[in-house]
Amino acid sequence: MTHEKVILVTGGSGLVGKAIEWVIENDKGKYGKGEGEKWVFLTSKDGDLRSIEATRAIFEKYKPTQVIHLAALVGGLFKNIKYKLDFLRDNLLINDNVLHTAHEHKVEKVVSCLSTCIFPDKTTYPIDETMIHNGPPHESNFGYAYAKRLIDSQNKAYNDQFGDNFTSVIPTNVFGPHDNYDLQDSHVIPGLIHKCYLAKKNGTPFVVAGTGKPLRQFIYSRDLAKLFIWVLREYKEIDPIILSVGEKDEVCIKDVADAIVKAVGFEGEYSFDTSKSDGQYKKTASNAKLMKYLPDFQFTPFEVAVKESTDWFIQNYGNARTGNP
Ligand code: NAP
Ligand code: GDP
Repeated sequence: MTHEKVILVTGGSGLVGKAIEWVIENDKGKYGKGEGEKWVFLTSKDGDLRSIEATRAIFEKYKPTQVIHLAALVGGLFKNIKYKLDFLRDNLLINDNVLHTAHEHKVEKVVSCLSTCIFPDKTTYPIDETMIHNGPPHESNFGYAYAKRLIDSQNKAYNDQFGDNFTSVIPTNVFGPHDNYDLQDSHVIPGLIHKCYLAKKNGTPFVVAGTGKPLRQFIYSRDLAKLFIWVLREYKEIDPIILSVGEKDEVCIKDVADAIVKAVGFEGEYSFDTSKSDGQYKKTASNAKLMKYLPDFQFTPFEVAVKESTDWFIQNYGNARTGNP
């Protein structure tokens, strides 16, 4: 059987890639697998995208007509603080290889993934899509931020010089099944789910890093997956689009800890380790552009999504990425 469209998803084994795979396989409505579509979900075992030879071999093998580019060195605040050069170099190499090979293969459309933590640290709120390059990012993650910002510059240059249809999306903090639940290097929700689970199981203290005051907008990975699929099929701009819940759904880290305590069923007290960094205080983003395109999009309520992610973690404790050997 020949497929009209071959959609290659780099980083297909990660949090966002697995969510896209889940929606493609399970959604019975407009986000599910389309006719004539073949979806290929890559892992790093298919090839190291920091290598141009490996990247070219992958494109030669699958001959994609579309690419969703997710693969990246990703981590929470504490991993970003430790490995700034790795975040800069690995992501520069991966992005350059994927975009240039997509160009060589005349791929019809590439959707790459930025992040709201790449925006300027000193800014006005809410942040919108026009502000990416307006000033230095927060110093805790400047390696990751500059590599990601350049994707937007690359997309514009490929379009300007060659007419390529390369675009990008900007999700806020993502969480869900298949997240990285490592205790040190993960993002806040999977990290705290794991810590709270251990506190309940072992009767040990549950300690939240920082003051609990920073504010974040969280998007459930399966909601983000639907929006990615919409962008791939319908969004026509080269300029990026923020994929986020609204400003009123921003929560503080203490609210996050409370939702996790409830989802895990932890009954002890918990505390804040204020010797640990808070990172950026907030990065409130506007989803006005998204709402203009999709005014009726329904986001999963935060507590429901936290509960689903917690249940997934507990059911998959042996297989989830936990940093355990
Ligand atoms: P993740 O769970 O850590 O997954 C990363 C994916 O990239 C995995 O499939 C991994 O493959 C692959 N990968 C990493 N290095 C690679 C390499 N050198 N060669 C080939 N593949 C490689 O990350 P995620 O949270 O799904 O993130 C997906 C995208 O969303 C990233 O671009 C990230 O910057 C962006 N994003 C994430 C968040 C968030 O809160 N998580 C927020 C905003 C934006 P293996 O599984 O084989 O290692
Ligand atoms: P960020 O949005 O890029 O800063 O990413 P994170 O997902 O790492 O969220 C960081 C915020 O959560 C900071 O305010 C941290 O102090 C706070 N936090 C509390 N406990 C944890 C934890 O166990 N892991 C992480 N990564 N952050 C935590």
